[in-house]
Amino acid sequence: MNSNWEEPSVATVKEQIYKHMESEREEEWKHWNSWMPAKINYFIWRVGIERIPVKTELRKRGIGLDDYLCPRCRSEEKTVNHVISECVESVIVWRQIIDWLKLPSVADTSSCEKALTYADGLKGSILWRKTVKMEMQATMWHLWKARNGKEFKGIARTGESIVEEIKADTFLWLKSRSKVKDIVWERWEDFNIRDIIK
Ligand SMILES: [Zn+2]
Repeated sequence: MNSNWEEPSVATVKEQIYKHMESEREEEWKHWNSWMPAKINYFIWRVGIERIPVKTELRKRGIGLDDYLCPRCRSEEKTVNHVISECVESVIVWRQIIDWLKLPSVADTSSCEKALTYADGLKGSILWRKTVKMEMQATMWHLWKARNGKEFKGIARTGESIVEEIKADTFLWLKSRSKVKDIVWERWEDFNIRDIIK
């Protein structure tokens, strides 16, 4: 976790997003998820507009670094999609998440935008899609966190430990922020919830 990241309020984040949209973007931000903390919505939005400071971008802006390699796989860190979707270390996590969510293995997580679009296009209720999408968004956030942990603190995380953290975090968000409160951990662990989230 990036400890320098202040916890912004929902109002602040929304204001910032809408201000930005008025000035630069016409379309509405459609990926806001009210079950997630504001800072994670803010992160996902910044991913969407490519404002995440990956190393190649920093170099373009003239910021000198020791190297421009991905701290986890040591290939060039060109885009945020490398960190979140393409890095071999991230692919491992996505596979486990897709498996846990009981989605078909062809689910397209090859970029952030594609993963969100995929979740939006799933067959099922609004609540179900919102839940799956929350998992996609939480996965993106945790992969960025894992990258930062390796980059700044030298902490190497296993795919399993990242997946466990995603499950635990999103369980808490659902319990505290959604109207779906009947979920118990034993079933959540197995994502066996389709009779609860219809
Ligand atoms: Zn990598």
